[in-house]
This record gives sequence, C-alpha cells and structure tokens, in this order.
Amino acid sequence: MNQRTNDEVLQLLQAFQLTSDNHGAYAGEWIETTGPRIESINPTTGEAIASVRMASADEYERVAQVTIEAFEAWRTWPAPQRGEVVRQLGDALRKQKDELGRLVTLEVGKTLSEGLGEVQEMIDMADLAVGMSRQLFGKSMHSERPQHRMYEQWHPMGPTGIITAFNFPVAVWAWNAMVAAVCGNSMIWKPSPEAPLTSLAVTRIAQRVLEENDAPAIFNLAIGGVEQVGEALVADTRFPLISATGSVRMGKQVGAAVAARMGRSLLELGGNNGLLVMDDADLDLALRGVLFGAAGTAGQRCTTTRRLFLQKGIAQEMKERLVQAYGSVRIGDPLEDNVLMGPLINQKAVDGMLEALERVQEQGGRILCGGKSLDGPGFFVEPTLVEIDQQTPMVCDETFAPILYIMEFDDLDEAIAIHNAVPQGLSSAIFTLNMRSAERFLAATGSDCGIANVNIGTSGAEIGGAFGGEKDTGGGREAGSDSWKAYMRRQTCTLNWGTELPLAQGVEFEV
Ligand code: NAD
Repeated sequence: MNQRTNDEVLQLLQAFQLTSDNHGAYAGEWIETTGPRIESINPTTGEAIASVRMASADEYERVAQVTIEAFEAWRTWPAPQRGEVVRQLGDALRKQKDELGRLVTLEVGKTLSEGLGEVQEMIDMADLAVGMSRQLFGKSMHSERPQHRMYEQWHPMGPTGIITAFNFPVAVWAWNAMVAAVCGNSMIWKPSPEAPLTSLAVTRIAQRVLEENDAPAIFNLAIGGVEQVGEALVADTRFPLISATGSVRMGKQVGAAVAARMGRSLLELGGNNGLLVMDDADLDLALRGVLFGAAGTAGQRCTTTRRLFLQKGIAQEMKERLVQAYGSVRIGDPLEDNVLMGPLINQKAVDGMLEALERVQEQGGRILCGGKSLDGPGFFVEPTLVEIDQQTPMVCDETFAPILYIMEFDDLDEAIAIHNAVPQGLSSAIFTLNMRSAERFLAATGSDCGIANVNIGTSGAEIGGAFGGEKDTGGGREAGSDSWKAYMRRQTCTLNWGTELPLAQGVEFEV
C-alpha cells in the first residue's frame, strides 16, 4: 500500500488551519473544548491523522445558546440575502474543492474522484439553495367567506440539529445546511466521530463566509460523544427540528426521542437496495450499473446495491461476467489514480463484514468471489459476491460493506415481491428494455422505495430530486424538489377586509 507522506498530510491540514490536535466546537468563535480526545484514523494506513478534543456537556450548552441567539437575528434577514451568503459559501467551496476532496478521501477512504464528487455535491447544493431562496412559495386559496383572503406562508422552523454519518462526511451536512440556511434557520452540526477533521475544515470555510458578511453564527459545530452532544441535542426542546442521517438503529432512538417532545425529525437511515436485471436488459449497461453500485465506495453508501435479482435467462451469463469484473477491481490507496475501491472505515466494519459472510453461509449462501480481508496496513476487504437461493434474515440486514447477494427469479411480479420484502426502502433499480416491465416496476404496486431507477444503478443520486426512503429508512426527504418544506413551518393566514364577521361552514353565533 502506497502511504501518504507526512508532508502531504500536514499541508492538507494547514489548508484548513488544522493542527495535530484540535478543538472540536465552534459557535461564532472556536471553543477550547475539554471533553475526551478522539483520533481521526486514516483507514488506508490505520494511522492517526490528527486528534480532536470533543465538546463536554457544558460546551454543548454554549454552542446551543449561540445557535439560538443567531436564529433570532438570521430569521429577520430577507431570504434572498440569506441566499447570497450561501452563494458565497458555494464559491468558497469551489476554491477549496481539491483540498477538501483530498481530506475527505484521507479521512474516510473513498476514492479521490468520489471525494471530489462529494465536495461538488456541496457546491451543487449551494447553487440549488440560492435559487430556492427566491422560491419559498406559499399557495393562496379562495376563501369561502366574502371579502376574505386566504393564503399560506412559510417561516423558518428554528434552530436545527444536524447529525451526520461517516460515509458522506461533508455532503450530508450540505444537503441540510444549505437549505436550512436559506430557510432562515441556524444550526448545530454533530458529525460522526469517524470524520471529525472534515467537519472542522468545512466549519472553517463557513466561518470565513459568515464573517465576511457580518452574518450571525448560524453554522455551528459540536463534535462530541453520543451522550454529551448527540442525545443532548436530540432532547433539546429549543431545537424544533433534528435532521439525523445514519443507521436504522440510531434513527429509531432519535426518532422516538424527538417525537416524545413533539419535535420534528428528518430521518435518512440505512438502505438495503435491490437491482433487478430482466432477460431483455442491456447487459453491458447492467454490469456497469451493478459494479459501481455494489463495489463503489467499498459498499459504504446508503444507496449501495446489496441485493441483485437476475431473471433466469441471463442469470448464468451475468454471474460469470460479474465474477470476472470483480476480479479486476483495483483495490488500494484511494488517493492513487486508477484505484476503484479503498478501505472500509475501521476494523469493526471489516469484522462486521466477515461475520455477515459467515452467517449468510450458514443460511445457505455460496461465495462466488472475494470474501476475505486483506493483510494490513489499513482496513481493506475484497468485494464479494454471494449466491443464495432465497432471501434469508441476513440478506434482509444492511451490512455496511461490499457484499452483493445474488438471487434468481422467473417473472417480474415474483421479483418485485421479494424485492419489497425487506424492512428498508431507500433505492431500487430495474434494467430492462421492455417498456411494460419498466412501468410495472415504477407503478404503485412496483418498487416500494423512495428512489426507483430504470437502466441506472441504485447509487449516485442527483440533488435536484428529493432524496430519501420509506419504511425503516425513515421517511425523510432532503435536497431538491420541495424538500425545503421540512426546514420551515407553514402558516395559514386568513385576512378579513370587510365589515362583517361571517363564520366558516355557515355557522351562526349571534348574541
Ligand atoms: P451511525 O448510526 O453509527 O451514526 C450516525 C450518526 O449518529 C453519528 O454522528 C453518531 O455519532 C450519531 N448517533 C448515534 N447514536 C445516536 C443517538 N442515540 N443520538 C444522537 N446521535 C447518535 O451511522 P454510521 O455508521 O456513521 O453511518 C452508516 C449508516 O448511515 C448506514 O446505515 C447508512 O445506510 C446510513 N446512511 C444513510 C443515508 C441516507 O441518506 N439515507 C446517508 C448516509 C448514510
């Protein structure tokens, strides 16, 4: 494994004013945090990149106070002016795209092309949110009462908590933060402890933009333990909206805690994404779709293809072609050119993958290729194909690693039924050249997922659409379309400009 030199790492850290030991909280100014120290580990080498002191419960409270005060001011800024600040944030990210993309790759191990793509997604979100800032439309409706006007308008929801997963350490923040900002909300970001450095880097960029605009401290950060920061934020009634991205296990806890205090949660949780290949499919296209979907990002996307359903006529050929293609996936240092698959995030993820493979074999699974971890340094595994006759409990679980379960089917109705028979409902795809099969998959009786694609794999969504999934995936929607509504509160206004006071539904109440 080609290891990064210390100089390169130092240069990257310096680009964001990071040192070998950093404070993990920002609220208009950097706070000298006193919580336990965590290390950011480069999963390619297993070595520490730098350390971060986490926020204590008191320091969380300081960040919360500033965030609440910032909301009072920020919500009075006209939305297009808020959009102007977000536009500048997009530009600032453009200037540091290369460095930030490299830092993402260094810290979480996705390939450089994907690290850069993640920063591009932040920039795209900024552009989209700038447009939204002039389009936070409400509807007007005709009142049933004479000389009355009725309309709805949207106000900022309030201070917002953003909890993010390790695998999209910066893009998920941007999905939320860019939109929340134009909607008039201030926010606290609680990033994954696996990716603290990228959150510090992004906060540095956002800090500069806010200062240049004399804007209130709306982009705040609290790196901390689940108890001191995560649960404190989730329980904090001053934060009416909590957006949480991560595992189903985490989402069930967060969703229940926020609901118990009548808050609003926006949950983006795990997937178990299926892809169907019909006998009539363009197999070259399908092969590429499956390969990127299942082995790309080392299987660490919420939209990773985890289940492959092959119609019997093409099943053998597809399996053979996949085994061959899997054999040529170049695994290695994700900062190197031509590498297609980097490491898993940590040793626990490697162990989790190996355990899942053991269990699925006990349930009748047969490994077609891969199945092993690679000798260190770093947390590398082989992308793995497992053939299995039926959808066992293990296949219904999301194992966050490059395992693809392959099943065969006779007809489309049967395949759709098996496809939908898992707890998660994030992304799905069909490869077919038959219009009827495509429409059947997209119909109300077809895929039950939030995302359904035809002749495109399950992963790699564009920001223009609303992103999210059903069932255990949590039901949240982020990014494009009308997802902004989650960050605002709706107010229905009725205005009487007449001299009478008629009641709705013709109710009489005269004294
Ligand atoms: P995780 O659930 O372990 O952690 C996610 C975040 O939640 C972290 O910041 C963690 O510290 C925090 N957290 C955990 N328990 C908490 C609690 N009780 N209260 C408050 N915060 C808590 O997930 P991960 O391993 O970082 O990420 C991988 C998972 O995320 C996968 O399941 C993947 O599918 C999912 N994911 C989903 C989406 C999506 O948009 N649907 C996107 C990315 C990742």
